[in-house]
Amino acid sequence: MQFDNTYFNKLNDFYAECDADIPPNPELIKFNKDLATQLGINTKNINLTSIFSGSEKPKGANTLAQIYAGHQFGHFNPQLGDGRALLLGEVISKKGKRIDIQLKGSGRTPFSRNGDGKAGLGPVLREYLVSEAMYALGVPTTRALAAISTGENIQRDTNKKGAILTRTASSHIRIGTFQFFASRKENSKLKKLADYTIARHYPDAKNYENPYLELLRNAANNQAYLISKWMGLGFIHGVMNTDNTTLSGETIDYGPCAFMDFYDPKTVFSSIDRNGRYAFSNQPLIARWNMARLAETLLPLINSDANKAIEAATEIIENFSDIYEKFWLMEMRRKFGFKKNKESDAELFDSFFETMTNNQVDFTQSFCALADLAEGNPTKLRNLYLDTKLLDEWINIFNKRSSIEKNLAINIRKENPIFIPRNHLVEAALNAAELEDDYSQFQQLLEIVTSPFDERPNKEIYSNPPIMVNSDYKTFCGT
Ligand code: AMP
Ligand code: MG
Repeated sequence: MQFDNTYFNKLNDFYAECDADIPPNPELIKFNKDLATQLGINTKNINLTSIFSGSEKPKGANTLAQIYAGHQFGHFNPQLGDGRALLLGEVISKKGKRIDIQLKGSGRTPFSRNGDGKAGLGPVLREYLVSEAMYALGVPTTRALAAISTGENIQRDTNKKGAILTRTASSHIRIGTFQFFASRKENSKLKKLADYTIARHYPDAKNYENPYLELLRNAANNQAYLISKWMGLGFIHGVMNTDNTTLSGETIDYGPCAFMDFYDPKTVFSSIDRNGRYAFSNQPLIARWNMARLAETLLPLINSDANKAIEAATEIIENFSDIYEKFWLMEMRRKFGFKKNKESDAELFDSFFETMTNNQVDFTQSFCALADLAEGNPTKLRNLYLDTKLLDEWINIFNKRSSIEKNLAINIRKENPIFIPRNHLVEAALNAAELEDDYSQFQQLLEIVTSPFDERPNKEIYSNPPIMVNSDYKTFCGT
């Protein structure tokens, strides 16, 4: 790996140097060769198990834990930081992109608080599966380079197998990173961080009269785009805290995330989200709230006159919903296969979701079934519904709208995934790995969800929702 570590070299006060623990008996579960190739990593001369278990520090790495703060479920925590993650450094991909390589679960750091710095096998495999599925689905995301089992048992609700994920990201700068310095009123460090972020993610912003306002605008735009992608897939992040919101606009932190099977806007999976703060339909609102927290941190940089700074930042935050709405419409037009824009489309999309509500309709399958509908066959779609009264009215409107489009069914099939990492499949794969050392289900599921648009005969068990509706399904943070 050819490291080029700008975070380590330029941001001295923004991290603590530390080392990974050496695990007792590391074994490589999965290595992402395609990603390694994209990152220009030459795997011939390195021992993958040693390096990605933290047993061996690769040449050129500057291992460190990053400092950050964050709003967790609305409450500000002034001191978080990488408690179980270790940045090895940055590499430049073949396409010239700067990418962080980070171990997750490699032991305690100065920011571990009461945690053990470790990660469980289940959460590591979940993050591997879901982040790679998200990438294949075209969603901006951190990625998984390697999964290692450590041979160590860790204490959670019961004893669990330990593991380490190697995660890559276009950076790990979070809203919480800004909040850490803003809350301590360390404005010169804040400026350093903002300048670094602009140079790394939004270099064009430098050419504007007010680069910090542009930073906010760009970060907000990318976040609005990201959420529109989640909403187009039925993805629920589950822990949209400001420390889990990147400045790059990549999805990060796959702790309690899950895809909905049956459409219900109020869906929450995370066991710790008791009030539904991060429910499916709340995600755009929460993203806006998070961007407002970022805006607050940037005020002293935007203008030394506080009122002027607030006015300028407020305009961007107030615009967020409109920008999100535009991205969402784009996303829905894409999923519906529409190439033309009609004013009435928003209503058509909204009313489609209304037909699904309280009807136990599978989110992913409903969009696939639109292709048959576009070919004049409503059966597949109708069969997904308990009650088709509203749907049948809606189909008439859809048919009128679709008559002005060409190749609709082809477009719909191209744009809508058949396979997503469904919760029951993910759980089964993780259980087999955790309880029986059997990784075959994990490998098979990974292969399928990383080619989500390819039709596969006889693989219905991977495209179908669970037979039993489990309304109590819960996910847990990987802590
Ligand atoms: P998360 O909810 O995963 O985003 O984590 C929130 C914070 O808790 C971050 O600062 C993590 O580094 C820290 N954390 C989570 N799990 C552990 C652990 N097992 N040991 C130490 N710190 C942890
Ligand atoms: Mg986190």
